[in-house]
Amino acid sequence: MWAALRGRLGAALGVGAGARAAPLPRGCVAPARAAPSCWSCGGPVPGPAPDGPRFCPAPACGALQPPEPRADFFRLMGCARAFGLDVSRLRRRFRSLQRALHPDYFTRRPQAERDLSQQHSALVNAAYQTLLRPLSRGLYLLELRGVTLAEGTDDDTDVEFLAEIMDISERLADPEDEASLQELESLIAAKQEQLIADVNQAFERDDLQEAKKLLAKMKYFANLEDKVKSKKIPS
Ligand SMILES: [Zn+2]
Repeated sequence: MWAALRGRLGAALGVGAGARAAPLPRGCVAPARAAPSCWSCGGPVPGPAPDGPRFCPAPACGALQPPEPRADFFRLMGCARAFGLDVSRLRRRFRSLQRALHPDYFTRRPQAERDLSQQHSALVNAAYQTLLRPLSRGLYLLELRGVTLAEGTDDDTDVEFLAEIMDISERLADPEDEASLQELESLIAAKQEQLIADVNQAFERDDLQEAKKLLAKMKYFANLEDKVKSKKIPS
């Protein structure tokens, strides 16, 4: 029964559980790295690292293997590594991984494997959340390139911009009425939209420093968005 399920999982994920590496052309020397072995049966788990969860190919075992130590979220979610991301593709891949890692599939499996499926699920959730929002997606892209956004980046941000943020923030703290709150909300949304377009262009030009500057600005507006949300929910 498990073998059949595993086949379905493999199909859902687009990775054959027992996928093998293509044979090397004549005259090529196989890399010296041994295939990783299965934590459950000790058998080899050959083939290139799949984009999604990997299963032991031994029919009698089929155990889910641990997640890749430094999984690339873009690869895991089957998306090209770029800021301009196909969100509907991301959503489809997320749902398919969620289905494949559903606890129902693992109820009859050992506790160790149930734990692994939860680790995979947590990773998939983190990847989805990170890539879904433009701000975290941009920051993650920078991180992959070794650029981090330091805390307290005010030094890099121009005075005019900070004055604008302060002004909106003050108006948000004490909005005259519902209409003015709505007006501020649309203003912030428009600013974010423009920033998203600018960040996209910066990444397309491979101008990481510009992308970093713009993402720092996006962070300010994201904070303002949170403020608007908290205003709208009566406490
Ligand atoms: Zn195994």
